[in-house]
Amino acid sequence: MKKKTQLIHGGIVGDKHTGAVSVPIYQVSTYKQDGVGNFQYEYSRTGNPTREALESLIADLEQGHAGFAFGSGMAAISAVIMLFDSGDHIIFTDDVYGGTYRLMSKVMTRFNIDVTFVDTSKPEAITEAIKENTKAIFVETPTNPLLKITNFNEVSKIANEHNLLFVVDNTFATPYWQNPMIHGAHIVLHSATKYLGGHSDVVAGLVVVNSAELAEKLHFIQNSVGGILGPQDSWLLMRGIKTLGLRMEQTEKTTAKIVEYLSSRDDIQSIYYPGLESHPGHDVHKSQSTGFGGMISFDVGSGERAEKVLRETTYFTLAESLGAVESLISLPAKMTHASIPRDRRLELGITDGLVRISVGIEDAEDLIEDLKQALNQG
Ligand SMILES: *Cc1c(COP(=O)(O)O)cnc(C)c1O
Repeated sequence: MKKKTQLIHGGIVGDKHTGAVSVPIYQVSTYKQDGVGNFQYEYSRTGNPTREALESLIADLEQGHAGFAFGSGMAAISAVIMLFDSGDHIIFTDDVYGGTYRLMSKVMTRFNIDVTFVDTSKPEAITEAIKENTKAIFVETPTNPLLKITNFNEVSKIANEHNLLFVVDNTFATPYWQNPMIHGAHIVLHSATKYLGGHSDVVAGLVVVNSAELAEKLHFIQNSVGGILGPQDSWLLMRGIKTLGLRMEQTEKTTAKIVEYLSSRDDIQSIYYPGLESHPGHDVHKSQSTGFGGMISFDVGSGERAEKVLRETTYFTLAESLGAVESLISLPAKMTHASIPRDRRLELGITDGLVRISVGIEDAEDLIEDLKQALNQG
């Protein structure tokens, strides 16, 4: 089954009881048992048919063994971290999502989970960080907001040599463009709030594991810790996923046009987009993904100019988040990455004038016209 077909026919389709083509919303907490202990579903934290349909769909889309749905991307990441024990060490990509950084540096350290953040685009940096108690490598690629690329095959090799779990946050690329499990990842997770949902109307997280053993462990945690996704949101997410292919294809085309326009201006200092041949991760990304995505970051020279540009756009809404049908614009230094000290931010390359856009599915000409007038005024 090809991707666009799988988005419609993957997982559990329809309802076997009524023939309904769309999976019904089973808005229920508990289930009648046919005698003690004789049941298909027991309690909706443990299992719910609507959530199960979504979990089965994401497992198919990521080519994994089993899927799990959570109340947010952060709840999904927290559940994965709970697979580890106090005293274990995990290596992370240094510019992971800010919420992941906060979770690991401010919360999980209290449970004695040891973490090191390294530039995973350099495999030798990963090898150097491995310690006696290292148990996993957690990678994000492309990253936010500089779209740095990590090579899956190289990380997988290191993980296998050292008997480590290889975890990937695949939020930016989505399973439509990139399947890390083909390249050796053991766990793939998503903030489904972004491209998978796609309509800025649901907060959710998804995890896929590649073995029965990991599935059993993660289901135990999902049920024990309890951060599940409700049936309404599970349904909304399945509805969003059906059009993921169409949205990603359109976004890809429009993004390429916007990058071309931005490149033609001489008042923009750097453009970060993995589709550009000059991007340092271009070749690696092309070898492991079939699309470049809809995220672009570019430097307009100063924080002051960036704020003016952000005030002037009409179709690019000033907001955090990404991956929706609406185009969004943000200033990482003052928004998503404001909690990182300025020195550290500059070290990472997140300058004061760096603007990030998430390209939606509006008309490309309108979007370019909008950026043009905003940049001319800024
Ligand atoms: C948004 C995001 C998260 C967190 O997901 P929530 O759904 O907001 O909890 C994690 N990773 C990445 C890459 C994200 O963009």
